[in-house]
Amino acid sequence: MKLVRFLHRDIPRFGRLANDQIEMISGDPFNSIKPGAVSMNLDKVQLLAPVAPSKIVAVGLNYRDHAKELGMELPKEPVIFLKPPSSVIGSNESIAYPPESKHVEYEAELAIVIGKTASHISVDAAQKHILGYTCANDITARDLQKRDGQWARAKGFDTFCPLGPHIETDFDPENVGISLRQNGVVKQESSTASMVYNVFELVCFISGAMTLFPGDVVLTGTPPGVGPVKIGDLVEVSIDGIGSLTNKII
Ligand code: ZN
Repeated sequence: MKLVRFLHRDIPRFGRLANDQIEMISGDPFNSIKPGAVSMNLDKVQLLAPVAPSKIVAVGLNYRDHAKELGMELPKEPVIFLKPPSSVIGSNESIAYPPESKHVEYEAELAIVIGKTASHISVDAAQKHILGYTCANDITARDLQKRDGQWARAKGFDTFCPLGPHIETDFDPENVGISLRQNGVVKQESSTASMVYNVFELVCFISGAMTLFPGDVVLTGTPPGVGPVKIGDLVEVSIDGIGSLTNKII
């Protein structure tokens, strides 16, 4: 099932997407999905980021080939950091290049959307705490990341967490293609099979440190090929079985 979030009479609503038609659901998809009476055409509505998380937990250096590219050792356990909810935008919204930075980079990532409250859960229990998956771009001001020493500002500017276009609930995350195109040119291309820690291990690990709530998002790291963007660029994250997340740099 494909879940979208959109504005209906100025109120954010969840819907189920099928054949370019959105069927509004009553309530939210974290409890039970009840199709509503209202159905509308996809091109008639303004899509939002598919979820409004209370927090975004991201993982650094989680692809074997990316670690190799950087000549770095694989981490002994996941290295996690936070991005603020205020950094989230949806597909086709613009990423604002902050004047404080001279070097902003894209990072294509698979995003996990949590479905049920998860605290100290096992790897085996992780799957039933996940609602679905979407595409993410972990936009990073690389110069500020180095200069600040910690990453809150470099990864936390408004618009630095594009998510979308929808949540796919029927999705096997073990071995799917992930890529990024910059102005139509492929810059990142890998498979989630190259992850050091798979999605279930990540949810288990993170839930041991902090409770994950329904709607929270976990970014699972980026494959090799990260690089700088400039104003006017179009960056597109594509994940097989989900779709594409497209954003312009302004
Ligand atoms: Zn990242």
